[in-house]
Amino acid sequence: MTPGDTANPRAERIERWVTVVTVVLPLAATVWAVVLGWRRWVEPRDLAAAGAMYVATVLGITVGFHRLFTHKAFKCGPVLRAALGIAGSMASQGPLLFWVACHRRHHRHSDTELDPHSPRPHGAGARGVLLGWWHAHVGWMFAHRPENYFRLVNDLVRDPVALAVHRGYFLWVAAGLVLPGAVCAAVAGDGAAFWSGFLWGGLVRMFVVHHVTWSVNSICHVAGSRPFATDDGSRNNAFIAVLSLGEGWHNNHHAFPSSARHGFVWWQVDPSYLLLRLLQAAGLVRDIRTPPPAARVAAAGRASAPIAALPE
Ligand SMILES: [Zn+2]
Ligand SMILES: [Zn+2]
Repeated sequence: MTPGDTANPRAERIERWVTVVTVVLPLAATVWAVVLGWRRWVEPRDLAAAGAMYVATVLGITVGFHRLFTHKAFKCGPVLRAALGIAGSMASQGPLLFWVACHRRHHRHSDTELDPHSPRPHGAGARGVLLGWWHAHVGWMFAHRPENYFRLVNDLVRDPVALAVHRGYFLWVAAGLVLPGAVCAAVAGDGAAFWSGFLWGGLVRMFVVHHVTWSVNSICHVAGSRPFATDDGSRNNAFIAVLSLGEGWHNNHHAFPSSARHGFVWWQVDPSYLLLRLLQAAGLVRDIRTPPPAARVAAAGRASAPIAALPE
């Protein structure tokens, strides 16, 4: 997939099959691992590999794909940009430019007909609400058609690091599956240990990361608090914020999209922002954009009136 592709039947077939495999394979592997493989097929090293890969790939999405490449909320050198892009690609949520284009469109048209994954009800009653939620969570990927998304990402097309990460997508996804298997085999000193590491650190981890990230699209536009009166349905949801390493403060994010910090007050946990502060202290990250002080007051619930959102 390259920027500039236009819809055609072959591209459509390929995208559909990639979507089916991306959604169904980790799901099937997780059901198999939990139902049939538990006790026989999992060792502490497999769970450790899954945990490490979870943190690395979620941070690749939150810090890399989202806060760096989509919103330009901070700056860093090409090696760190590449590392964050590769870690995000290992989450298997689509090639970098595709992900950024979808997310920029989501901000531009939040909860309107042009939003690719709004949970607006699809029909009347509880069934319509459920169908809308399902569309936002996973259904939208099956409804999506290949498109020319060049205009949404033309800054990244001119960025050789972003373009290399984008073009290597399937290689990075494969590496994200093989790496935990190889580490487990090395730790165990037994080649057979590769497969349980591959299963838990690769496919099961991928399944969990998928649904946590997708919950930001679905749950965080339906359930939670709204300290900022944005023009969309975005919500702050503490449960999703913990699981997604800070992305669940989604109403804060829609109010201030270019802020690298999503948790505005001390109790709004935001490990992704914490990582950025650590990288800044190490001299690897600079120009971190943060919300104005008034936003922190509003997020803490002490503002009587919503404050204006910053331009993206
Ligand atoms: Zn949103
Ligand atoms: Zn965003």
